[in-house]
Amino acid sequence: MSAVDTLTNTPLGGPTLPQERRMVTAIPGPRSQQLLARKAAAVAAGVGHTAPIEAVAAGGGVIVDADGNSLIDLGSGIAVTTLGNAHPKVVEAIQAQAAQFTHTCFMISPYESYVAVAEALNRVTPGDHAKKSALFNSGAEAVENAIKIARKHTKKQAVVAFDHGYHGRTNLTMALTAKAMPYKSGFGPFASEIYRAPLSYPYRDGLSGAAAAEKAISIIEKQVGADNLAAVIIEPIQGEGGFIVPADGFLPAIVEWCRANDVVFIADEIQTGFARTGSMFASEIFGIVPDLITTAKGIAGGMPLAAVTGRAEIMDAAHAGGLGGTYGGNPVACAAALAAIEAFETEGLIERAREIGAILTDRLTALQAGDPRIGDVRGHGAMIAAEFVDAATGKPDAALTAAVAKACIAEGVIVLTCGTYGNVIRFLPPLSIPDDLLHEGIDVVAAALAGA
Ligand SMILES: *Cc1c(COP(=O)(O)O)cnc(C)c1O
Repeated sequence: MSAVDTLTNTPLGGPTLPQERRMVTAIPGPRSQQLLARKAAAVAAGVGHTAPIEAVAAGGGVIVDADGNSLIDLGSGIAVTTLGNAHPKVVEAIQAQAAQFTHTCFMISPYESYVAVAEALNRVTPGDHAKKSALFNSGAEAVENAIKIARKHTKKQAVVAFDHGYHGRTNLTMALTAKAMPYKSGFGPFASEIYRAPLSYPYRDGLSGAAAAEKAISIIEKQVGADNLAAVIIEPIQGEGGFIVPADGFLPAIVEWCRANDVVFIADEIQTGFARTGSMFASEIFGIVPDLITTAKGIAGGMPLAAVTGRAEIMDAAHAGGLGGTYGGNPVACAAALAAIEAFETEGLIERAREIGAILTDRLTALQAGDPRIGDVRGHGAMIAAEFVDAATGKPDAALTAAVAKACIAEGVIVLTCGTYGNVIRFLPPLSIPDDLLHEGIDVVAAALAGA
């Protein structure tokens, strides 16, 4: 752990970490190799990893490993450290709360920070109707609870999720998730009463938003029936599914149909929430007001916290004791969330996400102009992706995508892949990344693509 101190002579972590890409060893270096050998022996094989390093510090736009390599972070630990790692206000809030008390269980002895987080979520989420919130530990748990609430409220059972959707790895959320490998294969049987509708995927379906919505609604009406349907759940911009931005008009048409048919519309904003897309929530981009919204990832500066927020009359459908959990809304996580939400509201981060989006979009579309293997560049704010295809056939090129991502990591740039076809590289930098480092990261991606 002290390796970083001796190599850089600077404090560990946080915004003070030198903002540079620095390769001291090949990746993985000897210390990282040691940890990965221990991981292989001690940690279940099902828990994979993207970058073969031992992380010892992170902040601004870098992650430093045990060998002293400083890698540019274009993934934010999957859209979690939107504020940057170890944001000073978050660190201070965590330290103060941890010294006060770490747990009472909100269901046993309530405390103020949980209520304050609920108030903040009710205020910052889309729509000015009366809202309530409930807090949980993980995104999947929030999704499970949103479905529970929708079923209790509507007294109906069926749930519709979409092609390319990702909602988690628990049993109910595996059923909602579209992609078999690696998320579902061999883990069935899955929860019943889950149905799948086609998504608007402009690059591949060529449909207008209205036409794509008509197709989805027709399938829902014929194969499920509004009388049986409790909820429709959708990510306003698909995350793991490939950063798919639906065509204009698609989401409003689905919301309108839900309203007319007593179906709860749930926006899963676990990846898109909290300034990531250049709006506080992606629903705002499409002009929709969800009935329920699930949040997690960026909510608490890296602490595990998740929430369901929505119309008060729906949220109150569940009986006392029907929702909750031992750790849900842990006081340290709540303190971190309050600091994080304050930072989102006061530090110009929505603007910053848009600036980052403009840089990524400009650079990637310039690359695309000279390279037909980049089929599509899409996204909003600091949530941008490039979809890689075979230049001759236009078919998804997962092998090229994996090779580019691997080469980037070897050169000290952490990028994540995604997409149903495994052919998308997604860019989710922390908003604290300096411009020059972001440009250098994209330079490395461009070089990796040229060399692939
Ligand atoms: C990550 C994610 C989840 C699951 O969250 P966990 O905290 O990993 O359980 C659910 N939905 C979306 C859209 C996500 O991106």
